[in-house]
Amino acid sequence: MARLYESDAYDTGHWPDSHWRASAGAAVQMPPFEGEAETDVAIIGAGYAGMNAALELAERFRIQATVLEAGQPGWGASGRNGGFCCRGGAKLTAQQITRRHGAAAAQEWQTFERAAIERVRDNLSRYEIDAETGPEGELCMAHSPRAFARMQAAPLEPGAELIPRGALGERGFHAAGLHGAVLSPHGFPLHPLKYAQGLARAVHTAGIALHGDSAVTGLSRKGAHWLLETARGRLQARSVLIATNGYSDESLPPWLHGRIFPLLSAILVTRPLTEGECADQGWTSRVMAYDSRRVLHYYRLLPDGRFLFGGRGGVSARAAALTGFHATLRREFEAMFPAFAGAPTERYWAGLVCMTGSWRPFCGPVPDQPGLFAALGWHGNGVAAASEGGRRIAQALAGGANPAPAITQAPLERFPLPSLRRPLKRLAVGAAKLADRLG
Ligand SMILES: Cc1cc2nc3c(=O)[nH]c(=O)nc-3n(C[C@H](O)[C@H](O)[C@H](O)COP(=O)(O)OP(=O)(O)OC[C@H]3O[C@@H](n4cnc5c(N)ncnc54)[C@H](O)[C@@H]3O)c2cc1C
Repeated sequence: MARLYESDAYDTGHWPDSHWRASAGAAVQMPPFEGEAETDVAIIGAGYAGMNAALELAERFRIQATVLEAGQPGWGASGRNGGFCCRGGAKLTAQQITRRHGAAAAQEWQTFERAAIERVRDNLSRYEIDAETGPEGELCMAHSPRAFARMQAAPLEPGAELIPRGALGERGFHAAGLHGAVLSPHGFPLHPLKYAQGLARAVHTAGIALHGDSAVTGLSRKGAHWLLETARGRLQARSVLIATNGYSDESLPPWLHGRIFPLLSAILVTRPLTEGECADQGWTSRVMAYDSRRVLHYYRLLPDGRFLFGGRGGVSARAAALTGFHATLRREFEAMFPAFAGAPTERYWAGLVCMTGSWRPFCGPVPDQPGLFAALGWHGNGVAAASEGGRRIAQALAGGANPAPAITQAPLERFPLPSLRRPLKRLAVGAAKLADRLG
């Protein structure tokens, strides 16, 4: 077992105490995998990526995969995220993608990002999932005058709107320390666990074998097949998809070691706010928002009036460290939204997002391992991207050409000094916070 954080982060025995778990209704409960079986395709991980891959295999290619999940469907990041169905998935700017992979690849990636949002919309309608979606669009809030100047200087994409500081209040977007915003027309908020559970039901309805409490502990080549071992069974598969993202065991397969960097992201949700509190603050909109900091915050008013505020920066998954990080997050929340300071945190939880050594996702065959594929590394923006990435990789799993964007098919680089990822991250967060303060 090779994982970066303390064992608490991977304890699938219980769900995080999230607002989503508390409001999603009965959990989808899938039985463990037991005994010996054979399957065409085995999928490790029942998050958005794994479940979308399984659905696409069944619907387009008539291949019934077997999905093995260490917890229950949606237990990982897919059931505990901020619910921003938005563009993103890579840490590279369009200019960086153009420099590294060419202009066509940059264009293709942008098309993929928009298609990914439409994929989620289509899933919600096709499988009749009520995921409490909210208004269209996403706000990027300028945290400094220089950040707003950069927004003014950048070309505005079609349908987007530049909102100066003075107009934020009248639009219901007022928070302390903001200097303007860009409202993009793409994306919408949703209830992430309702979406994940809806996918799990669709997988089950399609007759696909989906097993919970079935952590894969061994993965080895046996003749022309792969052998997957769990506590209670052994599964033989022609092809395997690794869809474990931030929860990956870096020895499954060893190729993963040092190529990914799971990071902690944490969220607090308040009690329902009153109309008066929202009016006093000047934040009455339900449009989802994040800010232009390097160590960014993301926030939105939920359909039931509660407020969600999330951020990254925690370095340990131990309970005491997470409690400490809550205090930091709470301070930052109250500084931005002083009129909400009287609304205590009702629930607070954390989870793992996944960076890669190439700062973009990987969606393709694992080198020199015939039949082994991976779809992961959504850089904290996987609601849409992991859904679409899972759909695309299905075609490759079915034996066809890989239709994933070119940037996700390039070889995945290893982080230099992988064993120092966590200590170096501590330094990087400190430096990024300093840069944020300087604007
Ligand atoms: C706090 C937080 C906030 C976020 N906010 C947003 C947001 O607002 N918008 C957005 O787009 N993205 C957000 N993200 C990121 C997004 O949730 C993820 O990118 C996305 O859910 C990844 O989906 P996935 O299927 O690849 O991985 P996951 O959903 O993490 O699923 C991986 C699964 O693999 C399972 N697994 C691991 N190892 C094994 C094994 N050996 N055997 C069997 N199963 C295994 C795990 O139990 C897990 O359920 C957030 C993430 C977090 C943690």
